Amino acid sequence: MAGIDYSPSLDAGDATSLRKRILGLETLLELSRSLVSVQEARRLDGLILLTVMGLLSVSRAILLAKEVNEDGFRIYARGIREKDAKEHMDLRPSGVFARRLKASTGLSGIRGDGLPERESSTIQFLKDQKFTHATPIRAKGRLVGILLLGARIDSKDMNAFDEEMLASILDLSGLVMDNVQLYEDLRQANETLEDSNVRLQELDSMKNEFLANVGHELRTPLTCVIGFAQCLAYPDVTEDMRQEFADNIVRQSEKLSDLIDQMLDLTDLMNKSSTALPEKANLNDLIHEVTEGFQRDFKEKEVYLDLRLSPSMTETMFDAPRTSRVLRNLLDNAIKFSEKKGRVEISTTISEDGVTFSVRDHGIGIAKSEIDHIFESFRQVDGSETRTHGGAGIGLSLAKRIVEMQSGTISVASEPGKGSVFTVTLPKVPKGSETAIA
Ligand code: ADP
Repeated sequence: MAGIDYSPSLDAGDATSLRKRILGLETLLELSRSLVSVQEARRLDGLILLTVMGLLSVSRAILLAKEVNEDGFRIYARGIREKDAKEHMDLRPSGVFARRLKASTGLSGIRGDGLPERESSTIQFLKDQKFTHATPIRAKGRLVGILLLGARIDSKDMNAFDEEMLASILDLSGLVMDNVQLYEDLRQANETLEDSNVRLQELDSMKNEFLANVGHELRTPLTCVIGFAQCLAYPDVTEDMRQEFADNIVRQSEKLSDLIDQMLDLTDLMNKSSTALPEKANLNDLIHEVTEGFQRDFKEKEVYLDLRLSPSMTETMFDAPRTSRVLRNLLDNAIKFSEKKGRVEISTTISEDGVTFSVRDHGIGIAKSEIDHIFESFRQVDGSETRTHGGAGIGLSLAKRIVEMQSGTISVASEPGKGSVFTVTLPKVPKGSETAIA
């Protein structure tokens, strides 16, 4: 800021008055040139405060700049410790002080009475510090800041020229502060955009991973179906073999159809295009029904099923077909992640909170860092273990959505190497249909 004279204002007299005017205008010009390039709020204080103090021979000044998107001011001070100002000042752009300021210049014009406690003590602090002027800074009619000025070094009142200079500086400052706010808005929007971008990239790579997994999940049973169908055509196939091949074909086709059903279900739930259909059912019966369908899986992996079902279980209201899907997914994982000859326990309880079932295995378990993510769609724990076990990464996400659509909860506790337990609780009567069951 070349050319700023910090000496007290000169007395009137044609030559000095003219010199002062030229100096003032030069400074204003200089200020306007410098301000145009300011994009950061913290650079404003130096420019505005020092210019005002230099031009008007003021010993101390405070600039309150409105925070972007918040009802607060950032405080900049010169000639008084910024720390003190921050400690003692508590003004808000929407506060009574700011509103009264619009109708008045000069702190003396602002009555302290009726101001909220924190605002009147702020005014008292300013008066103690010999601040005499408080002027709003506006841009496009909006309050963007407040300039507070202390007493002049020469103790003289401002003359018309001083007032004019001050008004010009405030106009300019308003414009620049508004620009800085816009710039800040833009920067924040950019940051949000960058965050969304990162999230989009994550989603994109999850989508690719999902497609690769699904491709694999579809291809494996399909290859079996084709392979066994071809085997059926061999002339020397015995009746037993034929039966076995046909069984395999049916089983693998069912797997395919199950995966496709799950994908369609998940899409429906994601689009919120379907709702729960609660019906009277007994959770224990459902468990018997589902585990019956898994007999072959238990047998093949020699996993022992331990059923611990509550003898006091009664009929409650829940979406049985969908809850069956949840149980099947949990059971499928429990067997998949168990060691050969492992043990899987299914237990049920009934209480005031609702009906609960849990599926416990003693398999590989889940790392702490992964637990929060396993319910996300298409999410699989990284590493060779998971790849060995396959899966499309939609089972748990679908289970969670089904449980939550019935106002229930699903949770997991797990320890790597020791196993996992998934627990589902459903209300006895779904929300909104409390009278549906007697
Ligand atoms: P997937 O079809 O791949 O099994 P899920 O949504 O059912 O998808 O499970 C997501 C991931 O959570 C699995 O890939 C696995 O890493 C982990 N997981 C789920 N259940 C268990 C379990 N019982 N034991 C260990 N890991 C599990």
